[in-house]
Amino acid sequence: MFNVVRNMFQKMNNYCKTQLIYDYEAENKRALIIKPWQIENFFKLIDEDLVEFLKYDKCYRLADNYLIAMVFVYFIRADLPVDDYTVINFLIALYLALAMEEDDEELLQDIENWLESADETLNIFQKHKFFFQQIEYRGAISRSCCENVMRKINPNHEIWKRQRHVNHSGAVRDSKRRRIRCPRCR
Ligand SMILES: [Zn+2]
Repeated sequence: MFNVVRNMFQKMNNYCKTQLIYDYEAENKRALIIKPWQIENFFKLIDEDLVEFLKYDKCYRLADNYLIAMVFVYFIRADLPVDDYTVINFLIALYLALAMEEDDEELLQDIENWLESADETLNIFQKHKFFFQQIEYRGAISRSCCENVMRKINPNHEIWKRQRHVNHSGAVRDSKRRRIRCPRCR
């Protein structure tokens, strides 16, 4: 009897913690329904398996807070099962996010190198194609959707503090670029 009641409360508790994020890019403005296990596994991936990659990306050019929020939304859109919360899928999704937002072949090549070092036999093109299908070819994500993710999903996590310096955004003019230096560049 005790177990039944406990399980019921557990279920209710999980239900209450389910997050809704409005996905403004979707044609019918449907909400993303985010379950606690999805949040838990996404941050497990970040905290345990991506430490080296995130440390390597010291200026947050490959993975700043917005791109990581996009990857999170892609994972939800793709409705990945728990076993697919992997480094490879993270990098595949990140590549897609970068390709949507930046026009920089060098950064994309850098992610490809990480993918190759994670699995030499991986057919990156096939994997991209498959992932893109899984998110139903909806690669665009609005800034406000990313901001909602940062505000609602584990908001105090260090990962959301990865704000890219203005110098590393494509929009800064060269004259301005020289004056403002990114403190993380050596
Ligand atoms: Zn820098």
